[in-house]
Amino acid sequence: MPIQKVEKIWMDGRLVDWDDATIHVLSHTLHYGSGVFEGIRAYATADGPAVFRLTDHIRRLHESARMLLIEVPFSVAQIVEAVKETVRVNNVEECYIRPLIYLGYGEMGLNPLPCPVNVSVACWPWGTYLGDEGIRHGVRMKISSWRRQDPNMIPPAAKVTGLYVNSSLAKVEALKAGYDEAILLNTAGYVSECTGENIFVVKDGTIYTPPLAAGALDGITRDSVRTIAGDLGYQLVEANLLRSDLYIADEAFLTGTAAEIVPIRSVDDRMIGEPGEMTRKIQETYFAAIRGQVEAYKGWVEHVRT
Ligand code: PMP
Repeated sequence: MPIQKVEKIWMDGRLVDWDDATIHVLSHTLHYGSGVFEGIRAYATADGPAVFRLTDHIRRLHESARMLLIEVPFSVAQIVEAVKETVRVNNVEECYIRPLIYLGYGEMGLNPLPCPVNVSVACWPWGTYLGDEGIRHGVRMKISSWRRQDPNMIPPAAKVTGLYVNSSLAKVEALKAGYDEAILLNTAGYVSECTGENIFVVKDGTIYTPPLAAGALDGITRDSVRTIAGDLGYQLVEANLLRSDLYIADEAFLTGTAAEIVPIRSVDDRMIGEPGEMTRKIQETYFAAIRGQVEAYKGWVEHVRT
């Protein structure tokens, strides 16, 4: 689905017209994948649009930059404000938000340190990433032949633009084989995560998810699910998972800002089936929480109008 254009994009402290949000073709990040970014969503609430866990996302953005020795010219508070302003001026009730820190035009070569650091924030309305049908009935997953990068190649904890070539390779492979989404194993052969989502399985009433050391991103939805599962009285354990653990799961689901919470219907054609009760309850609670409808989780929604 093409990006749905809105009015303005925030670039380095000012709002520019959507069509003028362009950069030089010799920008460093375009050549070497040296940017860091975030994916965030804003949802309609009773008090207007609110961004889900905005400050946590921008903190992670700053941490991604720190891992790459990028000095960000805007503080966390300034980028939080930039996101709110971008959502406000574009008059969108619900949207996806893409902050990006990129190295601009200045120098070429593999040393990124002398390059100028630029920051942009865009938002646009974006429906369910893996489809409404997927959210209701689950998606068909394929274990990729591509491995997640080892943490000593590119830190998977950082949302680095170049890292996503790995995700794209896996995604395309899965789509071309007729599946909805891919699961990546790490170089040791354990399950790490999906192309842009964390993964969970349920076995005998316990929820399992791979540890960050397996190469999974410290997902904000993953963290929200941890809290929700605990509050629902479910036990959640971080453990290395084998592909066979996915094949024999009672329930399974993936989590991510773009995808939200999506049940897994099958893995490599081994059926898991319709979403199970624990998956449904977590999903239901999450969908209420993001719209500010759960008292206990109201601190997660950050309103754009004060
Ligand atoms: N893993 C990867 C590789 C991702 O890109 C994302 C999306 N940011 C996630 C997991 C899920 O993270 P979050 O819940 O913070 O969106």
